[in-house]
Amino acid sequence: MNSKELKTCCGGELPAKKVSTVYKNKKLYFCDTPCLDLFNKDPERFLGSTHFRLNFEQLEDA
Ligand SMILES: [Zn+2]
Repeated sequence: MNSKELKTCCGGELPAKKVSTVYKNKKLYFCDTPCLDLFNKDPERFLGSTHFRLNFEQLEDA
């Protein structure tokens, strides 16, 4: 376990029921299922959007 605080892709607190996926060997957490659906539709676009508030390279390795 590392001490890095886990945040959702939107920079918020993790919900009790975790919504996550693995992309390019990084673990991503989402604030909600619709948020994950949005990601799955077009991951690269999602990562470049204002909805994504984290630094992808600094995400936890999957
Ligand atoms: Zn979100």
